[in-house]
Amino acid sequence: MITNVEGKRVLVRVDYNVPLNEHFEITDTTRIDRSLPTLRKLLEMGGSLILMAHFGRPQKKRKEDGSIDKTRFTLKHVVPYLSQKLDVQVTFINDCIGENALRATQNMSPGEVILLENTRFYKEEKDGDLEFAAKLSKHGDIYINDAFGAAHRAHASTATVARFFKKENRSFGLLMEAEMDNAQKVMKSPARPCVAIFGGAKVSDKIQLISRFMDFADTIVIGGGMSYTFFKYKEGNIGNSLCEDSHIELAGDLLDKASDYNVEFILPEDSVIADDFKPNANTKIVDSMNIPDGWMGLDVGPMAIQKIKKAIEGAGTIIWNGPLGVFEMEAFAHGSMEIAKAIAQCNAYSLVGGGDSVAAVKASGVSDQISFISTGGGAMLEFLEGKKLPGIQAIEAEDQ
Ligand code: AMP
Repeated sequence: MITNVEGKRVLVRVDYNVPLNEHFEITDTTRIDRSLPTLRKLLEMGGSLILMAHFGRPQKKRKEDGSIDKTRFTLKHVVPYLSQKLDVQVTFINDCIGENALRATQNMSPGEVILLENTRFYKEEKDGDLEFAAKLSKHGDIYINDAFGAAHRAHASTATVARFFKKENRSFGLLMEAEMDNAQKVMKSPARPCVAIFGGAKVSDKIQLISRFMDFADTIVIGGGMSYTFFKYKEGNIGNSLCEDSHIELAGDLLDKASDYNVEFILPEDSVIADDFKPNANTKIVDSMNIPDGWMGLDVGPMAIQKIKKAIEGAGTIIWNGPLGVFEMEAFAHGSMEIAKAIAQCNAYSLVGGGDSVAAVKASGVSDQISFISTGGGAMLEFLEGKKLPGIQAIEAEDQ
């Protein structure tokens, strides 16, 4: 990260897309907490900070009259918590461009912190609009991108804005650096054996990821809704379990690739099934290849958990993305909780990424025993898939 910031105005793109309850109170402060080391360091070094971020989807969720819901989507909600954590009264500006905003950021004293309003109040943000980005860039002498969770978006504040800063005046923040270092550690030189655990709803979302991990993982574990597309390929009876018919052949290709690459491929041999997608549905445990009609697999079963735990215990590196069951309902959370605890207890280096698996780790109370928890859902997936993220490319690009 750039350290020469004394007396400079530092425009920092942070990821403050935090969940709120109906009283607009923050229910999970992780994203703000993870931005603090960068902000504190910049303040210590004598910079003033202008923070910009997006919040929710204000363009999609407009009010009935078509206007933006500024009460719900304002970033003002984060000001009290952020001020308390930084021990500085953060000044909130109710616009991110415009004369008022610009005036406020022109003459700042070292140690001052300004938070700009939600960049997505302007549709130009998502378009990556050049003119809009130029206006944003006027707020700072230096641009720092620390919003890993938004780095896979080619938006104005995450990517385009970087063009208006010379290479020596733009850099990643400490969180972005840590996210990239940790993901690279897994991909480049994992301690062996490397065990990758993938869950979640859809195989179509994770095909590229699974395929890429064949190159360097020793064991791949599949759980969650997507495992049933594999069982369907194997001609099992999957009842009403989630299945993507258009991806059955691709699931077969992945199984073939695993065998060609000598990668151990673990599918959950048993499942907790339910007669309805409801928390209080009737449940039983059955062989995942033999799910009766009218029933659906909603969690991994006890034999599967034992097998996955065994793989975890012997691992040198573990990466986990996606819950192994419908963990939002207690009756189907057991598999994900057990796996979270097993990862926390083992000696391996562990990286957990993806909003839902992070939530599962938190719910099981073992977050502090995981080596690195990524703040990026989609961004981490794309980074691990080997894609170039626009937010990263924009910082690394040569001057234009
Ligand atoms: P993803 O965003 O693809 O990581 O998927 C996360 C979602 O997958 C969570 O909301 C889980 O409830 C859901 N999920 C996990 N296992 C299953 C399953 N067996 N059937 C249906 N949905 C599932």
